[in-house]
Amino acid sequence: MFTVDSNEELNIKALKLVTITENRKKTTFKVDSVEIGKDFLFIAGPCSVESEEQIMESAKLAFEAGANMLRGGAYKLRTSPYSFQGLGKIGLEYLSKAGRFYKMPIVTEIIDTRDVSLVSEYADILQIGARNMQNITLLTEVSKTNKPVLLKRGMNATLEEWLNSAEYILKGGNNKVILCERGIRTFETFTRNTLDLSSVTALKELTHLPVIVDPSHATGRRELVEPMSLAAIIAGCDGLEVEMHYNPKVALSDAEQQLSGKQLKDLIINAKKTIDFRNTLNLALEE
Ligand code: PEP
Ligand code: MN
Repeated sequence: MFTVDSNEELNIKALKLVTITENRKKTTFKVDSVEIGKDFLFIAGPCSVESEEQIMESAKLAFEAGANMLRGGAYKLRTSPYSFQGLGKIGLEYLSKAGRFYKMPIVTEIIDTRDVSLVSEYADILQIGARNMQNITLLTEVSKTNKPVLLKRGMNATLEEWLNSAEYILKGGNNKVILCERGIRTFETFTRNTLDLSSVTALKELTHLPVIVDPSHATGRRELVEPMSLAAIIAGCDGLEVEMHYNPKVALSDAEQQLSGKQLKDLIINAKKTIDFRNTLNLALEE
C-alpha cells in the first residue's frame, strides 16, 4: 500500500478532493438501481448510434447478456473528417428510447460545451472522451451539472494529469466521477493502444473514485477484449465499458473491436466468475 505522502514521484499532493483521506475512502453513488463503486458496472453497447433499429437490437442483446448500462455515441470525434460523425440529437433520442425500453441507464459522450444541457436531458452518465480529457472548459461545464461523469484517460495523459482533470470536476461541485482507463499511446502498433492495467491498481490506492476499464478502445481487437477484461478485474476495477453491436461486421465505426451479443454474454459470465475469484483473493490478502 502506498500513500499520498510516500508517493513523492507522483506529485499528487496538490490534489485536494480526489485523494483518499480518513473521511473519504470510497465514493459510491446510485444511477437508477446500480450503485456505482459497489455493484460491478457492465456498460455495453455500440461505438456509435447508427439507426433506431441498430441501437434497439444491440440494446436487446446487451440486456440479455447481463449488461446493466447501455452506451452509444451520438457525437463522434473521428480521426478522419470523412468518417461517420454520429447522428447528433436524433441519435440521443434513439439511445434514450432503447435505454428506457430495456430499463438500462444510458452513457453517451459529450464533446462540446454547447451541448451540455441537451445531452444532459437524455444521458444518465456524461462521458468525456480521451481526446477531451484536458478540455478544461468542458470539464468545468460538466462540473456544474448533477450528472455523473465518466472521465476517460487521455491517450497521452499521466495519472497525475488524469487525476487533475477529475479534480476540476469535483472542485466545480460534482462529486460523481468515474475514471475509465482506455489505453495509452506507446510504440506498439499491433494493438490500437496499450492497456495500462497498473493504472487501475495504482488508482485504487490513490483515489476514492470508482475506476473502470474500456478494453475495446485499449486493444482495438475483438479477440483481446475478454482476456483483458478478466485481467482488469484482477487489477481491481469497478466495472467495464465494452463495445458490442448486433452485427459488428456492418458497424459504421470501430467494427474490428465490437463484440457480438454472444461474445458479450460469454464475457459477462466469465467476468462474474473472475469477480468471485478476486473476492477470495482479497479475503486472503486481508487475513
Ligand atoms: C468511446 O468510448 O466512444 C470513445 C471514443 O473512446 P475514447 O474516448 O476512449 O477514444
Ligand atoms: Mn468506439
